[in-house]
Amino acid sequence: MPILQLSKVSKTFDGPEGGQPVRVFEDINLELNEGQSAAIVGPSGSGKSTLLNLIGALDKPTSGIINVDGKNILELKGQETAAFRNQTIGFIFQLHHLLPQCTVMENIIVPSLAGHTREHKGVISHRARSLLSEVGLAQRLQHRPAELSGGERQRASVARALINQPRILLADEPTGALDKANSDRLVEILLKLNREKNLTLVVITHSLEVAQQMEHVYRLDDGTLSRM
Ligand code: ADP
Ligand code: MG
Repeated sequence: MPILQLSKVSKTFDGPEGGQPVRVFEDINLELNEGQSAAIVGPSGSGKSTLLNLIGALDKPTSGIINVDGKNILELKGQETAAFRNQTIGFIFQLHHLLPQCTVMENIIVPSLAGHTREHKGVISHRARSLLSEVGLAQRLQHRPAELSGGERQRASVARALINQPRILLADEPTGALDKANSDRLVEILLKLNREKNLTLVVITHSLEVAQQMEHVYRLDDGTLSRM
């Protein structure tokens, strides 16, 4: 069974009062099995972030069905939506959004504080250490984000995205603000997580080099999604 299934998904944003609505895309279909990786490329403004936000239940489509792990996420209500995001989905963005006043270790643990899991503190902190070591930050637990390089901050945000052991990682231009060496290292980490933890990956990118390392490459353009 696919872990992710979009069927005839359309999105139109209401225009400002009296203004034209913004039609972003129509009748998008997408299917991914657990453990697969996919890149989404396409021009700026084509709706890539909008699509990722729909998959992550940050926004709702105008029409269509989005099944994640066999469940229609559009039927989730209030707390269920928050729990779904917290437990099933990990997000990484172009900018890390780490809390500046917190240490790296504290930042990683933040998503586990939402109360959707009943895991023991010790289990979480053990997992945080092991994730931080997987992304090469074992020696930086007590540093604050300002004391890390851009690449290190982005790797910390990968560890944060995984603290609740999500099934799907959604990444919106995760290497967009990184130089080549740091970009390569980040992609290498994402692919290793994909292989070793069977983590399903959806990565939006402007880099064809990054895209081509994913199992499937899709292009969003002119309101439609097509396989490249
Ligand atoms: P991409 O990530 O591919 O650059 P986006 O998904 O951010 O594109 O945006 C797609 C289109 O939808 C753009 O035309 C953008 O202006 C529009 N858009 C995005 N969010 C909103 C919103 N909340 N309200 C109105 N229009 C929006
Ligand atoms: Mg975008």
